[in-house]
Amino acid sequence: MQEKKEVLILGGGFAGLNAAMSAARYRDDFNAVNRINIKLISNFNFFTPKPRLYESNLTFTQPIEPILKKIGVDFICSEIKNIDINNKFIYTNEKNYNYNSLIVALGSKLKVPNIDGFDEFCFNIDTFQSASKMQEHLAHQSLGNILVIGAGFTGIELATELASLRKDQIILIDSSNKIGKNLGEYSTSIIQNAISSLNIKTYINTRVLKIRKNYVYLSNDLKLDCHTVIWTGGVESNHLSASLSEKRDEFQRVLVNKYLQLPDHNSVFIAGDMCKANTNLEGNPQFATMSCQHGIIQGLFAGFNSIALLEKNELLVYQHKPYITCLDLGKYGALLTKMWDRKLFYNESYDLIAIKKIKKNINSSLSIPDFTKEDILRDAMPIELTTDYSDYLKICQNL
Ligand SMILES: Cc1cc2nc3c(=O)[nH]c(=O)nc-3n(C[C@H](O)[C@H](O)[C@H](O)COP(=O)(O)OP(=O)(O)OC[C@H]3O[C@@H](n4cnc5c(N)ncnc54)[C@H](O)[C@@H]3O)c2cc1C
Repeated sequence: MQEKKEVLILGGGFAGLNAAMSAARYRDDFNAVNRINIKLISNFNFFTPKPRLYESNLTFTQPIEPILKKIGVDFICSEIKNIDINNKFIYTNEKNYNYNSLIVALGSKLKVPNIDGFDEFCFNIDTFQSASKMQEHLAHQSLGNILVIGAGFTGIELATELASLRKDQIILIDSSNKIGKNLGEYSTSIIQNAISSLNIKTYINTRVLKIRKNYVYLSNDLKLDCHTVIWTGGVESNHLSASLSEKRDEFQRVLVNKYLQLPDHNSVFIAGDMCKANTNLEGNPQFATMSCQHGIIQGLFAGFNSIALLEKNELLVYQHKPYITCLDLGKYGALLTKMWDRKLFYNESYDLIAIKKIKKNINSSLSIPDFTKEDILRDAMPIELTTDYSDYLKICQNL
């Protein structure tokens, strides 16, 4: 009997799990169960919907193994140490694995700044473990100041959540000249109103120079007392992208072709935060952001293409034209934007509390359906998304 071919998926986040689901679905559709094995390797037993890590109640992780078992995918919990694409070998802390088709989806990691005291005294919410550590610490603090460093998407969601739930003074600080600088001009005044209404203190054009247990030194010569300091200053691709290509962008992501393959290595697909993929092949290039909305769809395409490659079928071209963001503003509501310049979905009569319900719907829909095989595989297919944004509003409302 012919030996089975191996599809190996690295990473159990949005991109990796969606790749596994789509690969399993198309292995069934191509009647290839007797010809292809699918394995997923990840260093954590649980799936973590990372966009929810700013929430105070962290009870949303899901065990990966039972989900994969239902769809016939083997799960291996190991730390990947190296990827050798020339010899088609993956090195882990336990065993090594070879593959015929590889999907790399190891996500991103916190960009660690060079601040005195950062490692000892600064919290972050980049992983389930670090967010839990922060919540555990906060649970034992009496009233005082909480400093959030970085006023981008994550910093604003975290600061507004903390200000809505706690009586501490929340302070948001950014080295740039604007709160929410990259969130588009249309959102500026709404974010500003939310921050004022929630009594969040802000410092712009300001850096943190030194962090100690109960205080920080700022670049504006201020010494600030605070019982908790949290860094939300950005992420970059998993460091293993260096073993895939020397050509990487400023986030250390690897450029892929229109099938999400690594150029010159057709058997290697990259999906999620590690890949720099063009979402629009018809006009000016528009590269995917490090976001779950892109990672999910890339995972679905990579899963399909990994099976199609082994079955000598035509690969699908990855496209993802629409772009939506939903920013939580705590008890002030939420913001929903569309298109790459982040226009608001509504005009001035924008109902922020109604949008907050949409944000809650989106967050709870980020879990993986885990009841039956049919549930898991129902939507696991790569599709071309339309740019009819009114459709999205209806979908988000009905999630
Ligand atoms: C606080 C926060 C808020 C966010 N908010 C939003 C939002 O509102 N909207 C949005 O679209 N995106 C948001 N994002 C970004 C989004 O979560 C990521 O873009 C998405 O998780 C990327 O998916 P991924 O599968 O590429 O990586 P991940 O979800 O990070 O998954 C990577 C997987 O690889 C595993 N892994 C990593 N290294 C190794 C190794 N060496 N060996 C074995 N396994 C390994 C990890 O355990 C994990 O299972 C947010 C992120 C954070 C942290």
